Amino acid sequence: MGTEVAGEEIEVSGIVQGVGFRPFVYRLARRLDLVGDVRNAGDRVIIRIAGLASARDAFAAALADEAPVLARVEQMMRRPAQVPDGPFRIMESAAGTVSVGVVPDVATCPACRAEIADPKARRFRYAFTNCTDCGPRFSIVTGLPYDRPATTMAGFPMCPACRAEYEDPTDRRFHAQPIACPDCGPKLWLEGDDATGADPIERAAALLRTGHILAIKGIGGFHIACDATNADAVALLRARKHRPTKPLAVMADMATAHPLCVLTPEEEAALAHPSAPILLLSLKPGAPLAPGIAPGQRHLGVMLPYTPLHHLLLAAVGRPLVMTSGNRSSEPQIFRDDEARERLAGIVDAFLMHDRPIARRLDDSVARHVAGRLRIMRRGRGLAPMPLTLPADFADAPPVLALGGELKSALCLTHGAKALLSHHLGDLDEPATGDAFETALADYAALFAHKPAAVAVDLHPDYRATRLGEDMPATRGLPLERVQHHHAHMAAAMAEAGWRRADGPVVGIALDGLGLGEDGTAWGAEILVCDYRTSRRVARLSPIPLAGGDAASREPWRVLLAHLDRALGRSAVDGDPLLAALFAAKPLLTLRAMMDKGLNVPPASSAGRLFDAVAALLGLAPDRLSHEGEAAMALEAAAQEDAPPYPFAFHAEAIPIEIDPAPLFKALVDDLHAGRPAPAMAAAFHAGLAEAFTGAAARVAKSEGLTAVALSGGVFQNARLLEETVRRLESFGLAPLVPGDVPANDGGLAFGQAVVAAARLMG
Ligand SMILES: [Zn+2]
Ligand SMILES: [Zn+2]
Repeated sequence: MGTEVAGEEIEVSGIVQGVGFRPFVYRLARRLDLVGDVRNAGDRVIIRIAGLASARDAFAAALADEAPVLARVEQMMRRPAQVPDGPFRIMESAAGTVSVGVVPDVATCPACRAEIADPKARRFRYAFTNCTDCGPRFSIVTGLPYDRPATTMAGFPMCPACRAEYEDPTDRRFHAQPIACPDCGPKLWLEGDDATGADPIERAAALLRTGHILAIKGIGGFHIACDATNADAVALLRARKHRPTKPLAVMADMATAHPLCVLTPEEEAALAHPSAPILLLSLKPGAPLAPGIAPGQRHLGVMLPYTPLHHLLLAAVGRPLVMTSGNRSSEPQIFRDDEARERLAGIVDAFLMHDRPIARRLDDSVARHVAGRLRIMRRGRGLAPMPLTLPADFADAPPVLALGGELKSALCLTHGAKALLSHHLGDLDEPATGDAFETALADYAALFAHKPAAVAVDLHPDYRATRLGEDMPATRGLPLERVQHHHAHMAAAMAEAGWRRADGPVVGIALDGLGLGEDGTAWGAEILVCDYRTSRRVARLSPIPLAGGDAASREPWRVLLAHLDRALGRSAVDGDPLLAALFAAKPLLTLRAMMDKGLNVPPASSAGRLFDAVAALLGLAPDRLSHEGEAAMALEAAAQEDAPPYPFAFHAEAIPIEIDPAPLFKALVDDLHAGRPAPAMAAAFHAGLAEAFTGAAARVAKSEGLTAVALSGGVFQNARLLEETVRRLESFGLAPLVPGDVPANDGGLAFGQAVVAAARLMG
């Protein structure tokens, strides 16, 4: 035991492990001439320092201000303590007490970017360069503690030069588990191309520049890439991938992105964030891109290069690249080499491969800056598995496992006031996704040593996630909490906003596709009054029959017919040449006979289907949608300028109050006859929907004495609708609770289910 001197102990909590925090503390202490040590303890970091009081204060201030990009200092407690004398040291974590958190994958940092561009550097043009501040993390983790043998880098023994950097606390690669160099690390090669001997990146770039389509192995899976300025290449990619219209994401560096899109300072910061999401940006008119990238859209999904491989490739191509998920139509993204060779063979001309295995599929995250902040639409690579913090009065909640919904599936595991919302797993009606879901469940449970006390599922008995919750071994014998779809959406918005259990109920506006309601019918345009445990429906959009059930969700003209028949009457619809033309080749008689007999015409009050119907009426929707949300996106893209809201009627004589769209359809048909342009009609529709639901919510808030309104459901990914809704609520003096880190779509459902179940268990 050495001598000790009087000093202080600082306990830091937040995201401070696995993010280069201890080496940062080490360098800071040395810089300020402090003695002492730093160590991990549980999920916190404990620092002991002694030295000048002014230097200790400067140290404490810098801990939060200068922390590594990935770290988040949430709490810092300082107290007097005896401190070991001698040069500042990093203490090894005691075996068995290590709980180093798993952190998300991180985009290449500026120092590593400079290094791969430096001809004198050891890692010049090395595609797998990384350091403590950047590189793969969650995508390579195979077990805990997070250490090289428990990653897919286990098969790459470090060379002496890398080992020396890894062991040097002053080096920026101190304990960087994926550390690698050209001598000891993963290698790149090109398959399916005859030119041998050439540099694989130069050769891949040459193929892309000449209109070829490539599969590129990345961090969390394979991308399919082509030159985004080449119309023929984009058309060929769409034809081979059977993806006719869904917008394609583009990868570009910041300088190339500027001529493509309007970029606010907030959007620039979001693009350049270490999570490097695909960001939806406003397309500039005349942007130098192939027209088939985002047909009919006014927005473009853009991401910056986030690995050294991407940086090198983009620099060599000199043009923006289409970077879309490597899969066939709606199957999950491929992340294994053999599967890529087999499944993508008919789509791509060559494969840019590497030999670092991907431990789990992680799709690119997708986000959009709306109503003052970034809104995550898909949580994937770069964001998962960053924990979310629940309101303070969930600290004593029992651990819950929530299994989410059917589409945009994700899991959620809670532990006290922390929630782990998994990465995007895909749509569970795809058989391949179902298998991935079960793998992910075992994966998360093991990685985070999670033992749930209860399981939360949707009310829908036919969701694959619900059935798994009922009878798979991992959840057998555990209490099952069934949570109504839109109650879960509202709870997710409340919890992310920090709404405490003790804060009581809120009004909730759910504008969504379809979710099973408590009365057994499909809901999706409702006003609820809910707290975390219970919810009751106080208003709804008037239901319409979904002629043909699921077919009505794919064919917008079916819901349009139902709305028009209801609003105008059949004879008026038939007698109107404009409307008759819309349904000219459609089996109207059959559909109406089904409605009369009540055969396969489940009633639904759905905002998603209302968007479909209006888009169809304005000629903005195809007969058959090629992807979910296609019609709604087209309607949002069409809406321009401001227009006075279209009217809705209210029937308040019974609960739930009916919000009736009949006047909306009458006005739309009148405007259609008057030749009013579609952009103004689309704008008036958005304004009308926002006015109708905020007006009803304000009445409910007043009669119930409530002050906050939660907004969620997939339809709120519509920027125009969300901004209009928030503005109107604020003008009524109501506080909108809107999700941002949690997707408003079904990707956020598990998070909401988990907090509802936790709240019910706490009583
Ligand atoms: Zn780096
Ligand atoms: Zn090496």
